[in-house]
Amino acid sequence: MCAVNGGDIRHILSGVLLTCLTLPVWAGWHQDTQAVMGTRVHVEFFVKDDTAGAALLNAVMQEMHRIDHAFSPYKDNSELSRVNREAGRGWVDISDELLDLLVKSAQLSELSEGAFDITYASVGRYYDYRKGKVPDEDTVQAAVKAINYRYVELDPASKRVRFAHPRVYIDLGGMAKGHAVDRGIKILSAAGVTQASVAAGGDSRIIGDRGGKPWNVGVQHPREPGRMSALLPLVDTAVSTSGDYERYFEKDGVRYHHILDPGTGRSAEGAWSVTILGPEATLTDGLSTSVFVLGPERGLALVNRLPGIDAIIIDPQGQLLFSDELSELQSPAP
Ligand code: ADP
Ligand code: MG
Repeated sequence: MCAVNGGDIRHILSGVLLTCLTLPVWAGWHQDTQAVMGTRVHVEFFVKDDTAGAALLNAVMQEMHRIDHAFSPYKDNSELSRVNREAGRGWVDISDELLDLLVKSAQLSELSEGAFDITYASVGRYYDYRKGKVPDEDTVQAAVKAINYRYVELDPASKRVRFAHPRVYIDLGGMAKGHAVDRGIKILSAAGVTQASVAAGGDSRIIGDRGGKPWNVGVQHPREPGRMSALLPLVDTAVSTSGDYERYFEKDGVRYHHILDPGTGRSAEGAWSVTILGPEATLTDGLSTSVFVLGPERGLALVNRLPGIDAIIIDPQGQLLFSDELSELQSPAP
């Protein structure tokens, strides 16, 4: 593969394979890594003043924890858990932020023809990836009837939600990390930061460069932990990867992982991993989950229709597939 300068295309793809990234230790650079939302959150940015930088770092991390508390399905007192308990019985008042996330998730469902569907959790709630627990066929067949994003009814004017089916259960895991990353970047931008990276697990967003050089975001090899399949030198972009290796277990030769096909309530099998590049992490996060479910053919067709969005898919044979714009970058027209 060749390293190409993308001109006005912002996502520059290089074929360089690297396994470790160096971290800046220069004056003015601030960074922290914490376990939040069940994943590794890493924040890194440049602010000349040390006191201001430390306060900003703290503010971004606080924001990550706040989002975790609001939208975790595992915390009984989260806003999401309250909705899951009450919205099957009638209208529930929700925050502007949750309304915004529900509107965006409905848009993603429409865009992906139902591949992205937060009601996947009506079945998804019965899996336990840590304990290797699979729901039995009867449970899946009963609960799969409650998977349909149209069951999530919104009343934006009054900021309310209700479920049109009593067994609906929602989970924002397909876009919440991207949302947290966007909120972190918003805090940094508002404070005048022009060089930053915020990452939550497989979702990252970058503003500016890193001391004159692009930021490097790795695409993890889906079957060899610690190895990268590609390294993306990026500026001013968001990037999300969804993989079947993130949360999974194997039983009787079947790989059960955390991205479910809403049509079947079983793990989607169209890809090993999907990486999406675009302007905002909420969108790239949601699209990486969507394209994973759609599989390479329908997924690339969707990405190629969307301006400013690119994709790298690793298919179930381990082959790298690229969206049109990235393919052109790799083999530019003569
Ligand atoms: P992660 O960074 O957690 O690996 P992904 O972007 O790959 O996140 O999305 C996986 C998460 O999305 C799952 O853990 C689950 O919460 C949620 N999810 C699974 N299947 C779907 C689906 N079909 N539509 C929307 N969200 C889903
Ligand atoms: Mg996602």
